[in-house]
Amino acid sequence: MKLHFLGTHAGFPSKFGATSGLVIEFPSRLILIDAPENSQQIMAQLQLSIQKLSAILITHMHMDHVAGLVPLLQSAFVRDRTMTLTLYGPPGITEYVNTINKLTAGEMSPNFKIVEVSPGFEFAVNDIQFTAVKMSHVVECNGYYMRTPLKKLINLKKAREDGFPFGLEAQKLKNFEDVQINDRLFKAADYTETEGGNRILFTYDTNLKSTDLKQFKGLVDLLVTECSFADDKLENCTEYGHSCVCMVIDTLKEIECKQVVVTHVSQRYGAPTEHPVQKELEFKKRSEFIGSPVPDWVDMLEARSHGWVEIK
Ligand SMILES: [Zn+2]
Ligand SMILES: [Zn+2]
Repeated sequence: MKLHFLGTHAGFPSKFGATSGLVIEFPSRLILIDAPENSQQIMAQLQLSIQKLSAILITHMHMDHVAGLVPLLQSAFVRDRTMTLTLYGPPGITEYVNTINKLTAGEMSPNFKIVEVSPGFEFAVNDIQFTAVKMSHVVECNGYYMRTPLKKLINLKKAREDGFPFGLEAQKLKNFEDVQINDRLFKAADYTETEGGNRILFTYDTNLKSTDLKQFKGLVDLLVTECSFADDKLENCTEYGHSCVCMVIDTLKEIECKQVVVTHVSQRYGAPTEHPVQKELEFKKRSEFIGSPVPDWVDMLEARSHGWVEIK
């Protein structure tokens, strides 16, 4: 699974990139969380086909999160008028999509569905489970908690390296059966590996200090969160419902999560990589850093615009 960041800015796009949106790439499908301006163009550049989209999840109705939504839908359905796609978003998303679509004479697929979701709502995109989570923003906003299924599989390559022969017996091993070859017993358990089982919490836009996430303690492998400001703009966080560095660190401690990706960064920091949190990634121990130090046990994954993070 890969997380492709279409953009990492808060508010509006700049020469450094787009506003926040990300594509979760699975082998057979894509899921989009928020649709910034130029979503289509960026996805095309990243070779992510909109025809592979199974679902779009919208966090809230601010333009930096929905500006690219209807153009993307219209393009998808012009290419394939029967495409199946479900859009999940907060109350008001149906009116937003239908109004723009009507005024711009767009056509939607008969297989297109909109589901308005509120915090606590659970849904599945194929075998991937989601729960909408209440954020603390200036408008109604959903974070999303995602769980992918844990799959067991046989590492046949490893078995071959151990001398397992080519032939029909491989199917037995793939079915997790022990296989006797001459005087040698190949135990399925020795070649069984797991894949998936990822638990990711997406929190934006929100003031993490006033977001109740204690139910997720010990249940999050990766936090993907907004961090609009450094700690010197604490009052902006309170006024506009956003987060700064110390809140991200406190949240990681509270939910006992060891991995984080920071996105939705204020324009004032220029390039997303100039964000104080990103700087901290490079200079973990610098005392002149203006925000809260990132503890050693936190593994920060870098969300450069147009970059991706691979989740094993
Ligand atoms: Zn935003
Ligand atoms: Zn917002």
